[in-house]
Amino acid sequence: MTNPDPRIRHQIWIDNAWEDAADGRTFATVNPATEEEIASVARAGEADVDRAVRSARTAFESTGWQRLSGRKRADLLWRLAGLLEENADELARLETMDNGKPWFESRKVDLSMVVGTFRYFAGLADKVHGETIPVSGPFLNYTRAEPVGVVGCIVPWNFPLNLASWKVAPALACGNAVVLKPAEQTPLTALLLGELAAEAGFPPGILNVVPGYGDEAGSALVRHPQVDKISFTGSPATGRIVQAEAARALTPVTLELGGKSPNVIFADAELKSAIRGAATGIFYGKGEVCAAGSRVLVERSVYDQVVEGLAGRAQKMTVGDPMGDGTRLGALVSRTQQERVLGYIEAGRKEGARLVCGGERQTVDGKGFFVEATVFADVEPDMTIAREEIFGPVVAVIPFEDEADALAKANDTAYGLAAGVWTRDVGRAHRFAAGLRAGTVWVNTYNQYDPAAPFGGVGESGYGRDLGMTAALRNYTRTKDVWVALD
Ligand code: NAD
Repeated sequence: MTNPDPRIRHQIWIDNAWEDAADGRTFATVNPATEEEIASVARAGEADVDRAVRSARTAFESTGWQRLSGRKRADLLWRLAGLLEENADELARLETMDNGKPWFESRKVDLSMVVGTFRYFAGLADKVHGETIPVSGPFLNYTRAEPVGVVGCIVPWNFPLNLASWKVAPALACGNAVVLKPAEQTPLTALLLGELAAEAGFPPGILNVVPGYGDEAGSALVRHPQVDKISFTGSPATGRIVQAEAARALTPVTLELGGKSPNVIFADAELKSAIRGAATGIFYGKGEVCAAGSRVLVERSVYDQVVEGLAGRAQKMTVGDPMGDGTRLGALVSRTQQERVLGYIEAGRKEGARLVCGGERQTVDGKGFFVEATVFADVEPDMTIAREEIFGPVVAVIPFEDEADALAKANDTAYGLAAGVWTRDVGRAHRFAAGLRAGTVWVNTYNQYDPAAPFGGVGESGYGRDLGMTAALRNYTRTKDVWVALD
């Protein structure tokens, strides 16, 4: 299979060099907006993952890396951030082609966060340290915050480079070596990241990238005995498998999983902003966002007004060529995902929810896996569309009576990733934020992220946090305690 675009990286990145899979296999990565194959990518298997892990282990243990100061690691990360910024147009183009998301999302939002994340963790690299502890007796006691070793990072397809940066940047800042496994639907930006890291000066083996399937490359990485930590983002079903497989070697795991996040609008909210926030909360990123506000809970007295406002905004979500300036809703990542989302829409109809707008598949020039922005009203909390993660531009709008009813409905989910609350009552805002079972709460806003703010979930949304200083140290260092006799 030839790769039509010579700029596209399509092999396995090990030891700062490109390699084919040991068995020569490849897989196609497809542009979901045109249904055309973008490239044929090397399909890493067990042998390739083993090579990548061994290379990372050797690089991690080398005296050069072990003796590199935090200041020097900061320089490398800072340089990598600069290269990502210089190549932001190309990276955003690859992301949009691979994932189907609109160009402004890849270029303006994702790439800004990627660069910001590398810069933020560059700032951490020379501040990783232990503490001295006063103990009884004539001893000096101190801790060292040491890197864990080889970190396996496994990421999904919805924010391919962004979610990779949430793991790779802090892991490198703390002095680890990394093997990154991108999703099979969207491998292209992770591959270019590997090459840019080499250009920034990272030694061979410190960042290896293994494109391939989850049950092959992903599973081989999780089961590898020389991997010291697995940092995983993906679905709860896969998270369970990852945790079970990692348990055999007692490899610690961090799991960032799905969500069914409530966005709660009280009657006293500034309704225009709340409606805008509810619309972007579900339709941004085509709804393929782990924290998507897919359940909009609305106080009864303003329910009709919010449903109408949301529908109005949904109808303005123009489907189109993801590279086009006016496009607001891109293509879903794959035909499988499109079918899954349409299946949920069908379930909503059958179970008696009121379809207010959308609900149909769309194409652009007869191609692509698009689905209209869809609003369901009069959704009962026990309907499938109110309980399961759809991962598409489909919102369930549910009425509530009072604050207690709102909180009970918001927390009536197995998930607990994020939540929004819209109110002008400051006491209620804080009360409600405290009562919500979620890793992140947004008050009078939605979908805010920052490299400094920890992000992760509870329940079926997983455990552990990405981003933030504390989480980075917890995930990617381990504590060694040292006793020194003073007498
Ligand atoms: P997925 O679980 O199918 O795949 C995620 C990654 O895991 C991919 O790289 C995949 O190849 C790999 N994988 C699959 N099987 C594996 C196995 N047996 N062993 C090791 N790796 C394996 O999820 P997806 O469909 O790609 O992504 C969507 C899910 O991710 C949604 O549930 C979404 O909510 C969640 N998500 C969560 C966050 C968060 O931060 N909490 C962010 C984005 C997406």
